[in-house]
Amino acid sequence: MRAVVYDGYSGPAIVREVPPPVCPVDGAVVAVRATGVCRSDWHAWRGHDPVPLPHIPGHEFAGVVAEIGSAVTSFRVGDRVTAPFVCGCGRCEYCRSGNAQVCPEQTQPGFTGPGTFADLVRIEGADVNLVRLPDTLDFVSAAALGCRFATAYRGLVVHGRVTAGQWLAVFGCGGLGLSAIMIGVALGARVLALDTADGPLRRATQLGAEVTLDTGSDGDPAHRVREITGGGAHVTIDAAGSPDLAAAGVRSLRRRGRHVQIGLLLGEHAATSLPMDLVISRELEIYGSHGMPAADYPAMLDAVTGGLLRPGRLVTRTIGLDGAGAALAAMDGPAGPGITVVVL
Ligand SMILES: [Zn+2]
Ligand SMILES: [Zn+2]
Repeated sequence: MRAVVYDGYSGPAIVREVPPPVCPVDGAVVAVRATGVCRSDWHAWRGHDPVPLPHIPGHEFAGVVAEIGSAVTSFRVGDRVTAPFVCGCGRCEYCRSGNAQVCPEQTQPGFTGPGTFADLVRIEGADVNLVRLPDTLDFVSAAALGCRFATAYRGLVVHGRVTAGQWLAVFGCGGLGLSAIMIGVALGARVLALDTADGPLRRATQLGAEVTLDTGSDGDPAHRVREITGGGAHVTIDAAGSPDLAAAGVRSLRRRGRHVQIGLLLGEHAATSLPMDLVISRELEIYGSHGMPAADYPAMLDAVTGGLLRPGRLVTRTIGLDGAGAALAAMDGPAGPGITVVVL
């Protein structure tokens, strides 16, 4: 099969022929039809998040079941599916309590093993981890659901507990941030979008953000957010993964507000410091968010099929597998306005 492979961190990521995956007894091999290019793929390629080498990147995808393990009962060959980027074991206390997103035995195609920038990908625990796609949802729109869109959804609904009329401030308007903006608007929140570039901020406005702030030139972002929202946002999200933005997110909250950290803080940024004095005096809540388990997808998919959420609107560019390596390398620079999807 064809796959994008890199032999070393930051080295060439190019298409070559590799042996196809072997189907696990309880898993599946999925023929990838569309797969998003996500900043976490870039982190792995850069070596911030170590992966086995040589490596096939890619972790948010949609496709068709090509082969199914003999122990799988809920899926069959030909089913249109996606899967969360964190696949749970299905047996541990976390999986059994509905929290496969933090399973200690988790597998992550594209990180712990070969990913989805390939004709075929192996998924462990198919009954636990595959998600059947609605017939009306096309593969390109569905490609973002395994990581950025689902993570933003769970971050806002479960951790942020965003309700209509509340202020949501989204720091960073890449694929994750724009997903959060679309979902926040759908929940009825008043959305404030922050970024350093015009393109992503224009896209944020198109998706329903009420206010946009340029964090490069509009002064102290936390001060501006508190000013505009009359005391601070109810919920803030760092969707870019930066120590400065994480701290600004916390400082932007109104009393008893909630900061959700979704953008990755890795390597030298792992021990980011946050203003804990404010966390105490303003009774703030801080959450990390790590994807969404397959079992929680139906509510989100209902909102997608009902037209309330339209993840396809976030996709601004489709490319072939040949262009995936260059798209990965392009993430050295600032995020473009929207999601790039590789179509196979
Ligand atoms: Zn588990
Ligand atoms: Zn991702």
